[in-house]
Amino acid sequence: MIDGYTRVCGVIGNPVEHTLSPVIQNTLAEQFSHNMVYVPFHVENDEVHAAVEGAWALNVLGLNVTVPHKSRVINSLAALDDLAAQIGAVNTLVRTEEGFKGYNTDMPGLYRAMSSEGIRLEEQEEAIVLGAGGVARAVAFLCASRDVGRVYMLNRSLEKAEKVAEEVRKKTGKDCIVPLPLDGWKELPEKKYLVIQATSVGMYPDTDHALIEDAGFYDRIQTGYDLIYKPFNTRFMQLVREAGGRAYHGLKMLLYQGIIAYELWNDVVVPEEMAEAVYEILKEKTGIRDER
Ligand code: NAP
Repeated sequence: MIDGYTRVCGVIGNPVEHTLSPVIQNTLAEQFSHNMVYVPFHVENDEVHAAVEGAWALNVLGLNVTVPHKSRVINSLAALDDLAAQIGAVNTLVRTEEGFKGYNTDMPGLYRAMSSEGIRLEEQEEAIVLGAGGVARAVAFLCASRDVGRVYMLNRSLEKAEKVAEEVRKKTGKDCIVPLPLDGWKELPEKKYLVIQATSVGMYPDTDHALIEDAGFYDRIQTGYDLIYKPFNTRFMQLVREAGGRAYHGLKMLLYQGIIAYELWNDVVVPEEMAEAVYEILKEKTGIRDER
């Protein structure tokens, strides 16, 4: 029941109306019997600073930040976590005495999602990342932090992948990102790879396409991890499965980035059984079915 003690959290974005985060956060609050409510806030691009100040004045406990505000919001924060500073993007604000502190839970969220599926990044000598946008950059830092030996980053705009490789080198001292154009996979050693699909190609409503359509590419995929969760069965995932590989969608990453935010706001640890229960509720409410 909402009463005078109810703590408020929310997500700011533009657009924000399609967000699944309220399902995750309000289900967690229910499971823990925490008196907390989580709501979406549509915030225009030039109102981000006002929104953060307003949230602070309203005693808001925490905020998630989604596209397109993840970098812009940094200027409005009292403090920045090291990982978020490295990635240059913030998706979670946590209330502190001085103001909001910014975190990035996307990257640890992806790590926990992959671990829950038994995918061990630490064991990958080589991996392929498709894309060099905001999320792909975070994935590059994740791979570097988990000591993946070599990460082939394929992107339409090669210069963006080169920039990511340079940034990772500068900030981590690791020279592990190899920038390549989209057809660069043809030059790679012939073996089976873990491929993380971090472009927006195939996302609703333009669901008929995969970034790479060539069947030869899919013959080299052992595990295809698409960060898109709408639709839950992307063309990329279909092509991976048709070639005999295992395919995953991005819903668990979304779940775990939310779980980590919840843990930061409420100073709790969400046990794995509870994470699984919330995932089942999330799938039920969104009509998503898992296929392998
Ligand atoms: P972004 O910064 O806009 O990057 C988009 C990427 O897609 C770039 O690499 C871009 O290549 C590529 N791309 C877009 N259209 C293309 C086309 N027609 N042909 C070839 N390449 C194209 O986006 P983002 O924030 O990184 O998000 C990427 C995806 O990740 C989104 O679909 C989003 O749903 C998903 N995501 C999932 C989660 C989760 O929790 N599961 C969280 C965040 C994001 P260029 O550099 O050449 O333009």
